[in-house]
Amino acid sequence: MVDLKGQYEHIKEKVNSSVLEVIESTAFINGPKVHEFQKNLENYLGVKHVIPCANGTDALQIAMMGLGLKPGDEVITADFTFAATVEVIALLGLTPVLVDVEPDTFNIDIKAVERAITTRTKAVVPVHLFGQCANMDALMKLAEAHDLYVIEDNAQAIGASYVSENGSKLKAGTIGHVASTSFFPSKNLGCYGDGGAIFTNDDKLAHIIRGVVNHGMYERYHHDVVGVNSRLDSIQAVILNEKLTHLDNYNKARQAAARKYDEAFRNEPHIITPVTVKNCAEICEHCDCHVFHQYTLKVKNTDRDALVKHLNENGIPCGVYYPIPLHNQKAYQDSRYNEADFPVTNQLVKEVISLPMHTELDNEQIEFITSKVKAFVNG
Ligand SMILES: *Cc1c(COP(=O)(O)O)cnc(C)c1O
Repeated sequence: MVDLKGQYEHIKEKVNSSVLEVIESTAFINGPKVHEFQKNLENYLGVKHVIPCANGTDALQIAMMGLGLKPGDEVITADFTFAATVEVIALLGLTPVLVDVEPDTFNIDIKAVERAITTRTKAVVPVHLFGQCANMDALMKLAEAHDLYVIEDNAQAIGASYVSENGSKLKAGTIGHVASTSFFPSKNLGCYGDGGAIFTNDDKLAHIIRGVVNHGMYERYHHDVVGVNSRLDSIQAVILNEKLTHLDNYNKARQAAARKYDEAFRNEPHIITPVTVKNCAEICEHCDCHVFHQYTLKVKNTDRDALVKHLNENGIPCGVYYPIPLHNQKAYQDSRYNEADFPVTNQLVKEVISLPMHTELDNEQIEFITSKVKAFVNG
């Protein structure tokens, strides 16, 4: 699904020498390189505060701890996402409330969010799924009207932009009150191990979160709040410093691959290619509204699982993200849910298939993959 080795070959010398430098310096934890990465990412995103941490799941949890959410508070999120999002809500004793998504973008349905709001609702977590922002204009308006926090799960859309109705262009993860991301190796900005970060423009919240990630300490050995231990290490930071300089090009390579896939599937009645929402037509010189963490098709009148098997038999890796709606997962069942409330997710789990998507895909590979997909759906 990804070609991390091929990508590494292009940056090998720089990465190797900077990793060795960290080892020689022995500043493994909270060293200057972590601070440097924090500053570089703040500049890149145009956000006031980046707080690095150990992984994307921690980042979500820490964001919620920083906001002071309390057991019993309800947090609304999407039914169609990776489990990390709902997991941390449950872990903190908060009440996850899952809602349906949009059929074209796979992102959280703002109308469904609105219907799920109760007097106990405190926050909404939009997941910018597969590389494209949720409808943040509508969500921020709704959140303001109901006094809710918006926590962006930006694990899959780092580097993407969001163009608002008013024409302002912001990076994904800098629109809500706080955001999380992951540097898991296969993410658009991936390190060579685990890593994550929290972003916010709120000075007070950033201060609180800097203590939460460090055992609740604001002054050495004074523990003011219950915290966690969640750190990005210096070796990951130097790798990320190097890869951040290539992030825009990496995302362009993903977009170029997506355009080739689109082209190959243009006249296929059983294949629905990904939809990019563009508010940006006149603003974006180079559209970066979708950075294709995944390239996900919907297949109609096709046995999707048989297609997966067929591709695998032909040496083509592919993925089903996600095969089971979260509201049907044993750990997250809730008597408040009604199957009729999840028509889109219930359909998507049967139709979606994600094709190989990374920065090193070449024409020959795309031609091979698309020809095998087309032969199957038409056979
Ligand atoms: C990858 C991912 C996470 C978790 O990130 P980790 O670094 O693996 O903990 C959270 N949310 C979404 C949507 C993800 O894709």
